[in-house]
Amino acid sequence: MGEFELIARYFQRPGRALDAGVALGVGDDCALLQPTPGTQWAVSSDMLVSGRHFFPDVDPRTLGHKALAVNLSDLAACGARPRAFTLALALPEARAEWLQPFSEGLLALADAHGCALIGGDTTRGPLNICITVMGEVPPGQALLRSGAQLGDDVYVSGTLGDAALALQCLQGKLQLPPAVLAQARQRLEQPTPRVALGLALRGVASAAADVSDGLLGDLGHILTQSGLGATLDANIAIELIAASAYSTVATGTFDTKIPAALALQCVLAGGDDYELVFTAPPAQAAAVQAAAQASGTPVTRIGRTEAMAGVRVVDGSGTPLPGPWASFDHFASQPT
Ligand code: ADP
Ligand code: MG
Repeated sequence: MGEFELIARYFQRPGRALDAGVALGVGDDCALLQPTPGTQWAVSSDMLVSGRHFFPDVDPRTLGHKALAVNLSDLAACGARPRAFTLALALPEARAEWLQPFSEGLLALADAHGCALIGGDTTRGPLNICITVMGEVPPGQALLRSGAQLGDDVYVSGTLGDAALALQCLQGKLQLPPAVLAQARQRLEQPTPRVALGLALRGVASAAADVSDGLLGDLGHILTQSGLGATLDANIAIELIAASAYSTVATGTFDTKIPAALALQCVLAGGDDYELVFTAPPAQAAAVQAAAQASGTPVTRIGRTEAMAGVRVVDGSGTPLPGPWASFDHFASQPT
């Protein structure tokens, strides 16, 4: 199968009604987009590299899902509505057994969000997937990292830490009962971008980011760009890990408890959860819960912003926990 046959077979969808806003899709030198009048484009790229972001033998269907999910998560964090994306793909070989499930996983999530594949590039090389996603947001309504105010509540959506738990288990650093691993692995390999919540938080949240590298790191970006710090409640945070004894894994045949310190490490610093971390003034607390309800995404208040820079994690009695909790950084261990 040649390059153009590959594109036509897996990434071009003739006969499909043109997606809204797409005047010309895959097949020409450029795609043509027709923006909705009175909106700004929100644009973001994320690259997934084999051996770094995923195991080379990962199920291609879930990989297709995840490659787009991590990009949609950035749109969610901005409160933008997904419209279109491009796919730049380096492949060691053109194998139908890989391409078919990969494209199905990718396009199923795209269709679920009304986000059209409008073009890309395909080349031979080490497996590498780069997606650029485009969404729309009314001017002035995008959720920025820089908008947090002193005294705002800090919230996260859904649950945190399960992806990191699964990764540690798959790397052989930790043993988990099969049912717990299956639950955690689902979060690692098929994250749910919180697009509906991001849209519902427009005009409610003061700042937002998605949790891709770890809660403390990603909240840290909001705080740095807003000139603030925060204190988080460790007891509330640890309850956010789902695939452990802290929620109920009702099997009864084995002890699913993982050490509290490990659970907290996964929640605070584990990456790949793709939840939203955001801030909102206390006066918006009811509006935050209404946004959570409307989008079907639970949110939990975990702390408050403060003037003192940095993030402090305290136990139930207000005593600071020592840490350190290192969030993920691709270049952290390399000399600069
Ligand atoms: P060019 O040589 O002009 O860059 P290509 O020959 O690389 O164009 O691609 C032909 C068409 O197929 C273009 O419309 C391009 O956007 C599209 N395309 C290439 N690779 C992909 C892909 N992986 N997914 C979707 N569309 C693709
Ligand atoms: Mg090209």
